[in-house]
Amino acid sequence: MNPIRIIVHTTADSFPGKQLDRINDWHKASDFPFSSRGYFVGYTYVVERDGEVIQTREDNERQAHVKGFNKDSIGIGVAGNHDYERPTAAQVLAVKNLILRLMTKWAINPNNVFGHRDFTKLKTCPGLRWPESEIKALFQPDNSYYQSLLNSLSELLKKLRTGKVGSASPCITEESKQ
Ligand SMILES: [Zn+2]
Repeated sequence: MNPIRIIVHTTADSFPGKQLDRINDWHKASDFPFSSRGYFVGYTYVVERDGEVIQTREDNERQAHVKGFNKDSIGIGVAGNHDYERPTAAQVLAVKNLILRLMTKWAINPNNVFGHRDFTKLKTCPGLRWPESEIKALFQPDNSYYQSLLNSLSELLKKLRTGKVGSASPCITEESKQ
């Protein structure tokens, strides 16, 4: 199912190095579903401390990061324990770029980007040291968002004009002989 919302998480792990393998082991031990990309990680993306972004699930497959909303929510797991530490500048930039790219790709409404705690009073995720105002600021559509929308639109118009998209051929094509 196509995603309609994006949810930001903290991995709640203060381990200073790369966390992907740790998260994968932990989620495997917790019986999380194996993804088509070969991971047990419940998030759709993991953002390491240095800003590296790893996609662990397809955007439109079943996720495992927020109870009751896993069929149509992209999850971004940000490495670190943000009850006690701030996300790094590299992470904030990477998350912002990722969110803007996903909003454009899936036409996700800016009002549909959340922190995990918006779904449960029992969690502080994405972290007490990552205040709501900053989470909101991550997805304020800015000039680059509108620019990327315009770029996709102009690409689409170009394809339509040259007949490379949405043009069914009436009968005989190259593949007909096969
Ligand atoms: Zn969370």
